[in-house]
Amino acid sequence: MAEETISIPSSFDEMDLSSEVLHAVKDMGFTAPSTVQAKTIPLMMAWADINAIAPTGTGKTCAFGIPLLEYISLKDSRVQAVVLAPTRELALQIGDELTRLAKYIQGAKIAVLYGGQPIVKQLNAIKRKPQIVVATPGRLLDHMTRGTLHLDAVHTMVLDEADEMLNMGFVKDVTKIIESTPNDRQLVLFSATTNQDVLTIAWKYQHDPVEITVEATKADRPQIAQYVISTEPNKKIDHLLYLLDADVYGRMMIFCNTKFMTDKLTSRLKKEGYQAECIHGDIKQSQRNVVMNDFRRGKFPILIATDVAARGIDVDDVEAVINFDLPTENEYYLHRIGRTGRAHKHGVSFSLVTFQESVRMDEILRYMIAKPLPLHFNEAEVLCKEDGEPFFDKV
Ligand code: ADP
Ligand code: MG
Repeated sequence: MAEETISIPSSFDEMDLSSEVLHAVKDMGFTAPSTVQAKTIPLMMAWADINAIAPTGTGKTCAFGIPLLEYISLKDSRVQAVVLAPTRELALQIGDELTRLAKYIQGAKIAVLYGGQPIVKQLNAIKRKPQIVVATPGRLLDHMTRGTLHLDAVHTMVLDEADEMLNMGFVKDVTKIIESTPNDRQLVLFSATTNQDVLTIAWKYQHDPVEITVEATKADRPQIAQYVISTEPNKKIDHLLYLLDADVYGRMMIFCNTKFMTDKLTSRLKKEGYQAECIHGDIKQSQRNVVMNDFRRGKFPILIATDVAARGIDVDDVEAVINFDLPTENEYYLHRIGRTGRAHKHGVSFSLVTFQESVRMDEILRYMIAKPLPLHFNEAEVLCKEDGEPFFDKV
C-alpha cells in the first residue's frame, strides 16, 4: 500500500475516531494532529505495517496510541497489543499517555512491565487482564518464560524507539518476542533515525511495509517556551505584577484554581490600574460570553480564569499564560499553556511556584518531554535566569 492512497487528515475529527478518544484528545489540549499522527493513524487503522522515521517530540506516542485504543476489543480479555520500549522511563511515559487517551474508554486496561519493579506487583497487573501491554523487552521475556503472559492473541506490535532499542543490544530479545506473536500481526516500527538492525527487523517480519518519514519541522512542536518561577506565598502577587509590568506581552491569560482567588486577583489588578477581567463558574454564561468576546477583540489585555470556565474557549493569540496557581489535575497544565503558541506562533508560559508547590510541579512535569526552564528573583527582586542574567532586558 502506498502512502498516497490514504489522504492525510488535517484534524482529528476527520479520522473516524470514537467520541471517547476524541474527548480524551481534547482534554489533553491537542487541537490538531501532528504530521506523524496525521500520516500514521489512518494507515495503522487500515492495518498496514509501518516503518516510521520521525524525530523526537513529534508526537509518536499518540500516533500509535490512538489506533491501539481504537481497535482493541474490550470483550476479549487476552493481550491484543504490545508496545516495546527500550527503557523503563519511556515505558512508563507511554503507559501514562495511553492511560490518558483511554480515560473515557470503559474497561480498557493497560499494563506497564519493566525491569527493576517487583515481579509480584506486575503479576497483579497481568491478572487484571490488560488488552495492551507496554514493556521493556527483557522483562516481557521474563514473563513469557515464566508462562505468566501469552502473546498468541496479539494483533499489533509496536516497537517504539526501535533504533535505540536495537542499538542497546535487545535484538535477540525483540526477535524472540516478535516470533511469539502470530505471523499475521501488524508490526509498526518507530525510530528517530533508521539503522541496519531496524531494516533487518522490517525485512524479516513486516508485510508490505509503508515508509513514513517526517522531517524535523518546528511546526510540529508547540512553540511554547515554559518557565517555572520560584516564589513565596506572600510574594506571589508582587511577582505576578512584575511579569505584567515587564510590558512584553500583549494578551495574557492568568489561571487560578478557585473562584475566590480569581475574583480576589481581578479586583487587586484593577485596583493597581490594570485592565483585567475574569471568568469563573459563578459568573453567568451570558456575562462570560461578553467578557470572552471583549477579550478576543482586544478590548482588555488580561483575562483571569479558572480551568472550568476556560474550557472550550478558543482565543488564538494569547502571548503569555501565567499559572498563578498550579492546576490540580496534571493534564490541565498542557491545556492551559496550550492557549499560547497556537497557529505556529511563539508563546510563553510562566508558573509561579512556591516551595510547597514544587512537589506538585514535579508531578505535573514528570512525563512531559519539554521541561520548563527555572527562573528566580534575586535579592534586588529582579527576575533572573539560572545563570543570574536578568530575564527581561528592561523592567
Ligand atoms: P515523540 O515520541 O515523537 O518524541 P511524544 O509522543 O512524546 O513525542 O510527544 C511529545 C509531546 O507532544 C508530548 O508532551 C505530547 O503530549 C505532545 N503532543 C502529542 N501530540 C500532540 C498534538 N497533536 N498537539 C499538541 N501536543 C501534542
Ligand atoms: Mg516517543
